Amino acid sequence: MARRKKPENESPTEMRVRQIKEAISNHANRSEKVSWNRKMDNMVKLIAELSPIEQEILALMAAKNPILDNVQVLREVMVKECVHPYEHLAIHADYVECTFCFKKLSIPSEFLNREEDMIRTCDDGEET
Ligand SMILES: [Zn+2]
Repeated sequence: MARRKKPENESPTEMRVRQIKEAISNHANRSEKVSWNRKMDNMVKLIAELSPIEQEILALMAAKNPILDNVQVLREVMVKECVHPYEHLAIHADYVECTFCFKKLSIPSEFLNREEDMIRTCDDGEET
């Protein structure tokens, strides 16, 4: 490992910075530095192997994005024209939610007092 050359026309600030860096980076011995630099070379090679894969990913995303855009446009139309399909309806205590368009729908009035009706029916049954 060649010793770093002292640069010409170094300002006092530049010299101080260089000396601080040298003092720290010279704590490791020569063989530790050689070993570490070999690992750095390996890392550079591994990162270079990533490059063609990243190109493929970019190409796949370029193919994927226009399809996703079409899905988005279609979904917006379907939300606007939603028929609230059976399989997308979730019943809550006092409303029904369509899980496709996220509208909250009223429970149809003929089903509103069902529970009360059933209790009344039971009471009637006991009385007779
Ligand atoms: Zn809906």
